Amino acid sequence: MRLLNDYRRIVSDEVISDIYKKARKLYGKRIIHINSTYMGGGVAEILSGFVPLMNDAGVDMGWRILHGNPDFFNITKKFHNALQGDAINLTEIKKRLYVEANEYFSTYTHITHDCVIIHDPQPLPLIQFYKKRQPWVWRCHVDLSHPDNGLWNFLKGFILRYDIAIISNKKYKKIDLPIEQRIIFPVINPLSPKNMDLNEKDISKYLKKFKVPTDKPLLTQISRFDKWKDPIGVIEVFKLVRKEVDCRLVLCGSMAADDPEGIRIHERVVQRANNLIENGDVILITSENSILVNALQRSSAVIIQKSLREGFGLTVTEALWKERPVVASNVGGISLQIKDGQGGFLVDPADTKGFADRIIELMRNPDLGKDMGKQGRETVRNNFLITRLVSDYLDLLNDILK
Ligand code: UDP
Repeated sequence: MRLLNDYRRIVSDEVISDIYKKARKLYGKRIIHINSTYMGGGVAEILSGFVPLMNDAGVDMGWRILHGNPDFFNITKKFHNALQGDAINLTEIKKRLYVEANEYFSTYTHITHDCVIIHDPQPLPLIQFYKKRQPWVWRCHVDLSHPDNGLWNFLKGFILRYDIAIISNKKYKKIDLPIEQRIIFPVINPLSPKNMDLNEKDISKYLKKFKVPTDKPLLTQISRFDKWKDPIGVIEVFKLVRKEVDCRLVLCGSMAADDPEGIRIHERVVQRANNLIENGDVILITSENSILVNALQRSSAVIIQKSLREGFGLTVTEALWKERPVVASNVGGISLQIKDGQGGFLVDPADTKGFADRIIELMRNPDLGKDMGKQGRETVRNNFLITRLVSDYLDLLNDILK
């Protein structure tokens, strides 16, 4: 397990010392996080590295998972999509099943902590089922700039009970939400299996194990099979790139336990890329394996992230940390990480040809990619590492537990 001391290889001693100082007033405080999956997706990825470090700093921090059945996760997935702009048929039965799953979980989840941190919409109604004795924080990882109004209004009924909301981008601030909204950028853990240094031998071992040949340059998108990640759009981009450069596309997307749509989207991708899959130019991977993700990111000539919406985009951060050039949609949190020409290129998500042109440019000119990659790593070191998140949460807790 990683301790703060291990991060001294990556950030300065001042950063570590500052964390210990900020934690001092919080000794003896007990904090609990609740989200709805322990693996798959960005939230689980962040919490798994972050919670142990907070404990190392001296704060008692726990993590629980809301138990939902498939109906519940179908509904919350629809909520997730509608918060990002889809229409939704918000029936009474959907609302009831959503709230009841939270009520049921509350009956056997005893909360005696000094602060409760709830992630995303799934466990949002929990607050209603407790006698509130402590601050509750709603940590929203979703892009809230185009929500379905009916759903937003329904969810707001729960959010108003919270002491503070945390969002990932100032663009997501809701003017009609009269509670404090604080911005905390997500981060990656540079020492986790997904981001730690790998030697060439391990990289080739993992690529071989998952049948990814390296005879041609790789273009890779690491993302759940989710329509907002636009895997079909990636296939269309690849078809254009392949006319100019002989390369392969890897789409690596594990199926998150709280994401029932994945299988359907995966099937659509298989249909669209049929011949290309058969001849081995498109490789689809659905296994959850952090070292594989690490190896793929390190061995790709270019990383693509063609999201239509993106709360933040940890996959972009991960690729930048590995000094890979990223060609990504100019949406959501991605533009906080890449400036066009620094770390990669930003393209309008509807501009398939624009994506292809940038990728071709980078494939033909590896030195350009190398320079961009170096800039990308420094951007991440200065802004998006887990030590910064520890520090931000300590500030938050010091403020609300005064
Ligand atoms: N991820 C993974 N395996 C996959 C697909 C995604 O481990 O097959 C990880 C990815 O490396 C990143 C996280 O899941 O750490 C996705 O976070 P992001 O913010 O990019 O998107 P989200 O899934 O939260 O919308």
